Amino acid sequence: MAANSVASALLKVVKQTAYDGSRKYAFHPPDGPHFEAAFFQVVGRERPNIACVSTQLGCAVGCIFCATASGPFYRDLTAEEILWQVDTLASDQGLPRILSEGFEVSFMGMGEPLANLRNVLQAIAGISQRYPQITRVSVSTAGPAHRIDRLTEAMPAAIPIHLQVSLHATRDIERRALVPRAPGMIADLLVAADRYHQLTGDHVCLNYILLEGRNDSAADAAWLAAIDPTVFYVKLSALNHVPDLPLRLKRKSREATARFADKVSARGLTVKIFEGDGLDVQASCGQLAATPRLVAISGRSRGW
Ligand code: SF4
Repeated sequence: MAANSVASALLKVVKQTAYDGSRKYAFHPPDGPHFEAAFFQVVGRERPNIACVSTQLGCAVGCIFCATASGPFYRDLTAEEILWQVDTLASDQGLPRILSEGFEVSFMGMGEPLANLRNVLQAIAGISQRYPQITRVSVSTAGPAHRIDRLTEAMPAAIPIHLQVSLHATRDIERRALVPRAPGMIADLLVAADRYHQLTGDHVCLNYILLEGRNDSAADAAWLAAIDPTVFYVKLSALNHVPDLPLRLKRKSREATARFADKVSARGLTVKIFEGDGLDVQASCGQLAATPRLVAISGRSRGW
């Protein structure tokens, strides 16, 4: 389908702007609930303009801290629907500016990108054709390992792809509780990610949502600290508010997160702490959802 026929097939795009300038967009296809994407502009970051796009309508992985998982899985998004998000966000933000400052497309919105690999790769090919000056593309996955291997085998040479693996736990039993339908073992994920690193040279990110009393013990910190710092770094993310969040999940305080990060980095591993952007319009990690909650609002919003 050509891009402009996709444009006519999508009924409308609605956007909300957060206090920090982040924007959330809702794309309404004719066949069901909307899907969402977000744009983050953060001055001072290495890549100050990030378009975070969705790859599926809903998600089957079922992370218990994620709003997308509160609804059903509907379908994969087509490559054209993924590109439509990128084009819409880029043109809304001003393409010359974002390309000159540094522009990243991040496949970290709704859905498991590697469960829709064919369309994701097609979209990446489209991105590299339309935006050859783009800084990079990031793909975040919960696995399993064989899907990471498929990405490694299919790696397009034209554009650097940064791999992020949703780890979230150091023990398989806890990971299955937090990420219930991401099959496979942590050890296998790390081996597959290492293979990706060997081929691409990419410094692979391990995403870890830090939860009070769940995955934040001294043993967890020691396990993470022992990871090879030449292959991986760790991104510790705060738990963001989503509707109907299980009561047993608690956000860790900023001070306690910093102490945990110090332990994890004790042997040289790079640790980044991410507190989220666009929180007041629920645009950040784990906050995008397929349920039709978004209403058209012009100007700035105080949220829902
Ligand atoms: S965090 Fe990502 S993988 Fe997990 S349920 Fe949400 S969209 Fe799916």
